[in-house]
Amino acid sequence: MSRTHKNSIILEKLLERGKELWNKPAKQEIFATNPDANDLVTDLERYPHAFLFACIMDRQMPSTRVWEIPFKLKQLLGDFEFSTLLALSEKEIVDLFEEHNLHRFPKIMGKNIYRAIRLIHEKYDDNASNIWNDTPSSHELVSRLLEFDGVGQKIASMTTTILARNFKISLSDYSAIDVSVDVHVKRVLERLGIVEKGLSEDAIRYKVRALFPENPGLIDLPLWDIGYRYCKPKKPLCSECYMENSCPKKI
Ligand code: SF4
Repeated sequence: MSRTHKNSIILEKLLERGKELWNKPAKQEIFATNPDANDLVTDLERYPHAFLFACIMDRQMPSTRVWEIPFKLKQLLGDFEFSTLLALSEKEIVDLFEEHNLHRFPKIMGKNIYRAIRLIHEKYDDNASNIWNDTPSSHELVSRLLEFDGVGQKIASMTTTILARNFKISLSDYSAIDVSVDVHVKRVLERLGIVEKGLSEDAIRYKVRALFPENPGLIDLPLWDIGYRYCKPKKPLCSECYMENSCPKKI
């Protein structure tokens, strides 16, 4: 079998698996190990800001810990109503983060959350779901998210992906959704021969965009899942991986 043919089989498999995962019915996702914390960040009806805050803070710390921060704040404040948060000054929020060691970067995150509350108040009528509930295009949604302090391209794309794929929020297109280039995704893309070794994250994103222009993010979860389950850094479990027959790097 030629290399090109193998390559197209790999892409087809990723696409097929990606569609399968993308089209799964919505179910309660597990972002935080504490069930109460998870309930809070997945309740997009009542606490859309909890989900948004977790996304904003999701860096430089294990995700499972970050996604518990809104619940810790709720416990400290007594509730997590938007009106309660809106009444807090920047100093009060930063103090909460610093005194209770809520994030690795308590001061920066406290400020980011304060500014997020102000932006939701001023632009989205005190309701974070107004950021995404008007069937925006994926580019529009990413650009709205990028207005929040602490949100860069990676977090904006990740948030858009979770909203569309996991919570089934309607978008008019999916072309601005990228793969999140983490260690698993990068390793699998390299071993499958989809990208060359050592490419920058930007170069990888553009390569995947070129291959799947309608929805580059479609293959994000399959890649991550292969990396997490089978394609271990040192000893990949190739005999268990569904790419085994077509992977050029099978060891
Ligand atoms: S076949 Fe092996 S090297 Fe290839 S993606 Fe799967 S686990 Fe990784």
